[in-house]
Amino acid sequence: MLLTCPKCKTKNFLDPYPFWNFKGTTQCAGCKAIWRLEIFGGACVAGPDEAKGAPDLLPGFAEKQDYSPIFGPGLTRSAPRARKDSVCKPIPMERNIRGKVISGHPLKKEDLVGSKPRFIVAGSR
Ligand SMILES: [Zn+2]
Repeated sequence: MLLTCPKCKTKNFLDPYPFWNFKGTTQCAGCKAIWRLEIFGGACVAGPDEAKGAPDLLPGFAEKQDYSPIFGPGLTRSAPRARKDSVCKPIPMERNIRGKVISGHPLKKEDLVGSKPRFIVAGSR
């Protein structure tokens, strides 16, 4: 969905998932104007009308009339993460029924028994 700012003509791309049924305010990434709109079923049913205050939800991406991108903190929302538990943290260790490590991080040297990386480490000496 697209919100073309009536003031500065910046194209603000509104993510379909959070904006599908939306009633509130968003902010233009180009001129920081606040717009009140109501979207139902992906179609804009009211607005955009000028509003004041803090925006409820920022656009996912925006571009100027010359197609140069606008993004960054305070202008657009960051991308959603696939797994919250894997962001900047090691993936938890998982073992099979025999107790051997099948996935995870970080691996210790003794976890690599019989594995290809262990063969490479042992063979290099
Ligand atoms: Zn604008």
